[in-house]
Amino acid sequence: MSADCLFCKIAVGDIPANIVYQDDLVVAFHDIEPQAPQHVLIIPRRHIATLLDLTRDEQLLIGHIHLVAAQIARQRGIADEGFRLVNNCNRAGGQVVWHLHFHLLGGRRMNWPPG
Ligand code: AMP
Ligand code: ZN
Repeated sequence: MSADCLFCKIAVGDIPANIVYQDDLVVAFHDIEPQAPQHVLIIPRRHIATLLDLTRDEQLLIGHIHLVAAQIARQRGIADEGFRLVNNCNRAGGQVVWHLHFHLLGGRRMNWPPG
């Protein structure tokens, strides 16, 4: 755990979040400022700052996050219509929280190219 990391604090329960799924590897919770009717963040419990900090040790973890995303999408009724799974990496990518997270967005039409 990183001492002043917001998402580490959510992962251990020190800061409340509206959790939709959790297991020993990941936690998924509603984004506080939703950008779509369904907007869930999926984070690893382990502190990893950005996608660029991943190592081979995290290969299974990243696969697991994708399976969890698919499961949440089905449970929340956005799988058939479609959804988007997004990682914002570093500043120009739009990252503002420095703990790896994936945005699961659905419930509306997603535009392409993204803004
Ligand atoms: P990013 O721009 O990819 O770093 O995304 C960070 C996301 O975290 C944004 O969509 C924020 O709305 C969201 N966020 C920030 N603080 C919280 C919080 N306490 N609980 C839930 N989501 C949060
Ligand atoms: Zn963290």
